[in-house]
Amino acid sequence: MTITDAAHAPIATSHFIDGRWSDASGATFPVRNPLDDALVADAAAGGRAEAEAAVAAASAAFPAWAALPPARRQQLFLTAADIVDRRQEEIIRLMAVEGGSSRAFAAFQIRLSAAMLRQAAGWGYLPYGDVLRSDVPGRTATVTRAPLGVVAGFTPWNGAFYLAWRTFLLPMAFGNTTVVKPSEEAPLTAGLLHAEILAEAGFPPGTFNVVTHAPGEASAVADVFFESPAVRCINFTGSDRTARILGERAGRALKRMVLELGGFNPVLVLDDADVEEAIEAVTFGAFLHQGQVCMNTRKVYVARALHDEFVAGLASRVDALKVGDPTDPEVVIGPLINDRAVAQVEGRVRDALDRGATLVTGGERDGRLYRPTILTDVPSDAVCTTGCDETFGPLLVIEAFDDPERALADAQDTPYGLSAAIMTRDRARGLDLAERLHAGIVHVNAPTMASEAALPVGGVKDSGWGRSGYYSVEDFTELRLRTVSSQ
Ligand code: ADP
Repeated sequence: MTITDAAHAPIATSHFIDGRWSDASGATFPVRNPLDDALVADAAAGGRAEAEAAVAAASAAFPAWAALPPARRQQLFLTAADIVDRRQEEIIRLMAVEGGSSRAFAAFQIRLSAAMLRQAAGWGYLPYGDVLRSDVPGRTATVTRAPLGVVAGFTPWNGAFYLAWRTFLLPMAFGNTTVVKPSEEAPLTAGLLHAEILAEAGFPPGTFNVVTHAPGEASAVADVFFESPAVRCINFTGSDRTARILGERAGRALKRMVLELGGFNPVLVLDDADVEEAIEAVTFGAFLHQGQVCMNTRKVYVARALHDEFVAGLASRVDALKVGDPTDPEVVIGPLINDRAVAQVEGRVRDALDRGATLVTGGERDGRLYRPTILTDVPSDAVCTTGCDETFGPLLVIEAFDDPERALADAQDTPYGLSAAIMTRDRARGLDLAERLHAGIVHVNAPTMASEAALPVGGVKDSGWGRSGYYSVEDFTELRLRTVSSQ
């Protein structure tokens, strides 16, 4: 039995602790297909005891893993990347069945995941310190980077496969060991599948551990992470709402936190933009994975001269996206993850229409299949346009602007600061606006999504902190100063 068998018939899954599948308690919870509620798996419902065992295993494995020669670590990561490539068809199917991912989104995540594993494979050979000058004659000072210890990771259900790889491999590449608590909405593609692949690749027992839990039990598992002295870092990807709860606890426990949170991710279409390119970038940026990705575009500011052409072109492009069962390779828009997600989008659309917004397209659903929806003339007090709270679904607001400086100011009038994009034929003008936009990432002439595993993706302001790619060395290592003087 493998985890991806769940794409065809329900399976029972266990935790993965200290190199073994283990399910001591026998308690389970159902994991269901968001399209039709069909059973995908009976997953092990863990709690304190399993989390304690996982932390103990990760702690015991840490010294040997931290000391492993770079060549050995490199070979393990490269092997894992090859397994991801080899198994991609079965992984794509599981992502559709458990998370509602279209084929295109699943393939996108697999490409990024394999690329990130291959890059991380080389990080063990990069310099890991400096020799500094000292004002004291005869003194030598060195700073080196050392792993932290056990890094406890929380994974989300959206973009689950890629984001969970980030949760395992960035800390592990720098010599930390991990305990991962996948989202209860998609535990197979948000952690268990990774455990299976890492085990097959030959990563030593205890270097990675996975504990799954029933809905409502996340904080019982989290308690152990906060209480355990061996856990030195909480690595969280999810909503800012949950991050605030965990952040208070991390503060009391004095644990380092790495946070990858949500965003509003505005796009500015300037008056000299290529409208067709802007339509492509916004279609992908706003509606990839039904708008359930932290980097999805939530609002577009368009130069008034292009507004009508852009809105009409975007609406017809978006209306052509096939909505339905994501195991159909032609489907681009699959189901939203659960009823709460549907209710949020529906409520936000209703709120905007009640206040006088214009519905350009969408606004309908069939079960959890919600059609991509575009609104214009949205009054500034409608929740979906304020930038204060992301609408996690296929809803896009478009606004015309006359003054690009005003649009720039409006675009960053949000507590978030993850990603943004500017569409223009004038590279210098685009770069000037990009320099002045307060966001972790600004693309000129590309969608707001991340598309390269090597680049340091991450947010500012309420979008969190921490970066993917090699810059995560700053998140998952600590600096050590050593000086030597003559006697
Ligand atoms: P979403 O609402 O999009 O699912 P969350 O922030 O709730 O995003 O979930 C991200 C991760 O945080 C998941 O692994 C989830 O189980 C976990 N989580 C949610 N609430 C809590 C909590 N109170 N304590 C610990 N973990 C939590």
